[in-house]
Amino acid sequence: MRSFKFRLYPNKDQEKRFANVLEVNRIIYNYFVLNSFRSRNDMNYALTELKEQQPILCNYHSKMLQMVSTKVEGAWKALAKLKKRGHQSGKGKLLLLKQCNSFTYNQTGYSIDGNKLYLSKIGRIRIVLHRQPINVKQVTVCRQNGRWYAVVACENSKPIFKFIDPRRSVGIDVGITKFAHDSDNYATENPLFLTNMLKPLRRAQRRVSRRKKGSHNREKAKSWIARLHERIANKRLNFLHKVSTRYATRYDLIFLERLRTRNMVKNHRLARRILDSGWGTFTKMLQYKSKMVMEVEPHNTSVNCSGCGNPVPKTLMMRTHRCEMCCLVIDRDYNASLNILQRGLALLNLPVGRREVTPVEIAPLLVNGDGHARSMKQEASSLCVGSSRTKCSFSMSV
Ligand SMILES: [Zn+2]
Repeated sequence: MRSFKFRLYPNKDQEKRFANVLEVNRIIYNYFVLNSFRSRNDMNYALTELKEQQPILCNYHSKMLQMVSTKVEGAWKALAKLKKRGHQSGKGKLLLLKQCNSFTYNQTGYSIDGNKLYLSKIGRIRIVLHRQPINVKQVTVCRQNGRWYAVVACENSKPIFKFIDPRRSVGIDVGITKFAHDSDNYATENPLFLTNMLKPLRRAQRRVSRRKKGSHNREKAKSWIARLHERIANKRLNFLHKVSTRYATRYDLIFLERLRTRNMVKNHRLARRILDSGWGTFTKMLQYKSKMVMEVEPHNTSVNCSGCGNPVPKTLMMRTHRCEMCCLVIDRDYNASLNILQRGLALLNLPVGRREVTPVEIAPLLVNGDGHARSMKQEASSLCVGSSRTKCSFSMSV
């Protein structure tokens, strides 16, 4: 399943209807939560009873109303999962919705033709299609800062058969100063969009706090903050899409470190920049765009020498890797990415060869010879991976 997000341009009348549907969704959601229904069957049964009492509900698409129960059930499951992982879950109850921002049409009641999205009991809404959705299974309409979008879920019917060439493999080391440094010595700067927008954000937040609570002007100021955050998120997504597409088109096999971001953000000095980088989204994008993504254990990837395996301890300040055993002098992140690649290839029992290592332009600590790394051309054979193997390897990466 793949989802695509399209912009909707409803007219005034349709916008009113959307708002109305959202309100009905919200009321039903809260009704389910207040009566503490747990299973979808109970909820849908209660919904039919509710419809008899409130015939006005018959003016809404019935499957769309039933999807509210899926939402509530999903929320319960998510809560149980959090509790199981040891998170604090308050009183273990779901909160009532103050505002509902999306509703879903599942399987029936929608169609897309031309530049119009037809929704049953709502009408034909103008949609901007940047690609043609095929095999549409679900349409979710959502409201974001006063704009409307349709998230269209499509089923992919193409057979999963992938040809993976191990020569087209890469290891990527993600970081804070450099977003990514790969084993072909290509580095991408980390744009840190949130960190760069702190000043305008502060100004906007100050504006809110100066305005009277509950006033219309305060709401306006709040929406300005929301717009800023939306802009930051859009910029970040754009950047992540560009970087991940670059890797997905150039490489078949991509190795990453398994990062435990939740533990890493416990360091308050780095937390904002870690979350601002969006490594999780980057991994997700790579997983659905590229042929194969694997995560390897991150232990000592930046410490060990990629040439001889000799541990070279370094602080965060030391940006260059200097090995006294094999005279390898390369960038610290480059060394880490080479380690990640080697670890990944070893995991798949593929030939682990060293690529030609390009040293960084600094005066190296010469022990003997020229200080250049010895190169060893990788002996690679193309390998064909059938559907069963790919499925298995994908489950490994998930
Ligand atoms: Zn070494």
